Amino acid sequence: MKAKIRVIVSGAGGRMGKEVVKLVLQDEELELTAAVDRSSSGSDAGRLVGLEESGIVVVSDLETALAESGGEVLVDFTTPQSAYPNTLLAIKYGVRPVIGTTGFSPEQITELDKQCQDRGIGGLIAPNFSIGAILMMKFAAQAAKYFPHLEIIEYHGDQKLDAPSGTAIKTAEMISEARQELRQGNPKEEEVIEGARGGYYNGFRIHSVRLPGVFAQEEVVFGGYGQSLKIRHDSYERAGYMPGVKMGIQKVMGYTGLIYGFEHFIE
Ligand code: NAD
Repeated sequence: MKAKIRVIVSGAGGRMGKEVVKLVLQDEELELTAAVDRSSSGSDAGRLVGLEESGIVVVSDLETALAESGGEVLVDFTTPQSAYPNTLLAIKYGVRPVIGTTGFSPEQITELDKQCQDRGIGGLIAPNFSIGAILMMKFAAQAAKYFPHLEIIEYHGDQKLDAPSGTAIKTAEMISEARQELRQGNPKEEEVIEGARGGYYNGFRIHSVRLPGVFAQEEVVFGGYGQSLKIRHDSYERAGYMPGVKMGIQKVMGYTGLIYGFEHFIE
């Protein structure tokens, strides 16, 4: 039988971290060697996520976990402030980082790539682990070659701070790479109510809907003469990210250097 991949989870007590702990404890190809969180230390990792006792007690010190638990991969879902030092520390101990935390600067990504190369290990930073969302972006970029008139509509919960969402911005970037420059709509158009036409990006518009009860949805609507095309992804809960996290854990064992963006794994 193939050896299990030994995984350390940091941010284990957070919303995403708990899903990762559940994934690792329940997956036969993965083994949890340590769970780290600032706020849940002392709890059993299994109990923390509603499973039976795992024997892995949540600790607050990542460095000890990296040095002593025998983990091969660190999965990090913490905060933008913590994730960079955590990643540097993991690389120092030869533990491959698989990072879901958002907020890395291009300079930090370049530095982490260099560190991974020097250490001879693989690493992954993926601001979006949802395979469905990545496919939506890829399909939308492909469709934009043939349907250059489009609008993006994204839906999130009403407490989200930033608009548009990171996924919508990434979709817009990928579409812009594939689409011929075009300013849509009537050049004389005027907004009667400010913002009615949404945010402007490279000739097309992005609309952000914020409502309680919504988790994360996005659609790209293409208009052509006599037809329209909609590409839509609906995300209902955090568990939807886990197939991507597992794929990241497996992939990172097989290359050297840091890959930024899960889309590089999807052909
Ligand atoms: P959260 O606030 O629920 O959890 C963060 C956890 O990290 C907390 O339990 C906190 O105690 C812990 N923590 C903070 N600093 C730490 C440190 N130095 N060491 C150990 N633990 C530490 O947040 P969340 O909703 O789980 O999101 C976490 C991150 O993941 C955010 O950056 C979010 O944007 C990102 N995210 C990414 C994806 C993706 O697909 N890549 C999906 C959802 C969220």
